[in-house]
Amino acid sequence: MERLSPTGVLDGEKIPAAAGGKPAFDSMVPIIYPNMPPWESIRKRFEKIYRSRMITNFETVKEVERVAKSYLEVDNVVAVSSCTLGLILTLKALGITGEVIVPSFTFSATGHAIYWAGATPVFVDCSNRDWNISLESVEKAISHRTEAILAVHIFGNPSPVHALDEISQKNGLKLIFDAAHAFGACISGKPAGGFGDAEVFSLSPTKLVTGGEGGLLATNNGELAEFVKKLRNYGDKGNYDCLAPGINARMEELNAAMILEGIPLADPEIISRQRLAALYREELSWVPGITFQEVHPENHHTYKDFTILIDPDEFGMNRDSVYSLLIKENIQTKKYFYPPLHMQSAYQNLPQRAMELGVTEKISKNVLTLPLYSQLGETGVRKIAAGLASLHIYRDNLL
Ligand SMILES: *Cc1c(COP(=O)(O)O)cnc(C)c1O
Repeated sequence: MERLSPTGVLDGEKIPAAAGGKPAFDSMVPIIYPNMPPWESIRKRFEKIYRSRMITNFETVKEVERVAKSYLEVDNVVAVSSCTLGLILTLKALGITGEVIVPSFTFSATGHAIYWAGATPVFVDCSNRDWNISLESVEKAISHRTEAILAVHIFGNPSPVHALDEISQKNGLKLIFDAAHAFGACISGKPAGGFGDAEVFSLSPTKLVTGGEGGLLATNNGELAEFVKKLRNYGDKGNYDCLAPGINARMEELNAAMILEGIPLADPEIISRQRLAALYREELSWVPGITFQEVHPENHHTYKDFTILIDPDEFGMNRDSVYSLLIKENIQTKKYFYPPLHMQSAYQNLPQRAMELGVTEKISKNVLTLPLYSQLGETGVRKIAAGLASLHIYRDNLL
């Protein structure tokens, strides 16, 4: 217990709550702190919308589409009521009915969207470096039934977009990104949003920009955007003669007002999270058995989530024990993403060809997402890191 952490705090100073010490925090530090615009900034917008009696899919929604289009540097943005519906409508509009290759290590909605679109998910492995879809695994999964790849920028760390583009071009596949975590991410200076056939963002409360609920479909394909605009409104061409059996996936005006005020807050929040993420990495660098997601040096991670891997042998206890012991420190964490999709009850009857998903199974068993948002500040991050490190130091007294 002689070792000093990079901040000079003596490791031994923090005694885990489970070993009789004081909890790291007096009250629970939540895993998520929704990044909401100040009330004053939306009050006027809410009032105007309310008084206008035009409360869904109207001027504010159009403004969101305009602002997002310029932020994402893409030709078209279609606002929808959720990312899940945005993905479903994208798959529907592209006419995809066969197999869609998708990582198993993601949030359930990525896979569910394929199911609801009437296509079949084929779950593949992820890379043990950036935790995004594995290119080798994709190539192995391609069959004559494959119609699309649905990749995810996991936790806001951009997928290998160019390599995926090459694979999909070579095999005549559509390429869609679940960009739920990636509002504000950049790939060699270009914002996420303009890659593949379409990218779909989420605006639900755990995401970087939120309107309560909401989603944004970004695409350079004008025809696709126009079709989804119809589909989100029951398929109505405008004269009640429906072009296709659509659905109600409209964004509401009040949600749009929050989103509009939230978009300018994304960049400062991301910059702050990037700094705090670097601090986490530094503070935890000496702790055995903790590894981090690799980020390509030319890319910008949004840090929608800061997730670490805990090697049970090296750290001295498994992920589930760390999770429970951190609750005693008043630190809430999440197991993002566990279980992976191919192991969830919902997908046990899938006519899936046997795929090796070893990396996914190992990663999802060891992942732990730590709180990360600007309000934590450096002190918050240092205290969480010290609380986590203390579990390693006192491992023999805790289990
Ligand atoms: C949150 C999330 C979704 C779902 O977004 P909604 O807007 O809630 O439908 C889809 N994919 C991923 C990876 C997510 O994290």
